Amino acid sequence: MTCRHLDMIRDAVASTTLGCEDCLRDGTAWVHLRECLTCGHIGCCDQLAPPPRPCHWLKVDHPIVRSFEPGEDWAWCYADELSLMLDF
Ligand SMILES: [Zn+2]
Ligand SMILES: [Zn+2]
Ligand SMILES: [Zn+2]
Repeated sequence: MTCRHLDMIRDAVASTTLGCEDCLRDGTAWVHLRECLTCGHIGCCDQLAPPPRPCHWLKVDHPIVRSFEPGEDWAWCYADELSLMLDF
């Protein structure tokens, strides 16, 4: 099985290095940060947290993210539920 969304990866620049864009705006604490590889959006994702942080990809249909946590270099496609090997 392969990811059908690899052509959505752009040479995006991270929108911020401060933390989750949505949490910074809303004043909530972020959980694990991910960078959207299509638009560079930095966000977190936790449907169970109070208040819930819906995934960026569900809002805008950008399924491919990579971890924005220090020391982590994995990428993931939400739509296919596949981990991706990418050369950055
Ligand atoms: Zn995919
Ligand atoms: Zn995006
Ligand atoms: Zn957040």
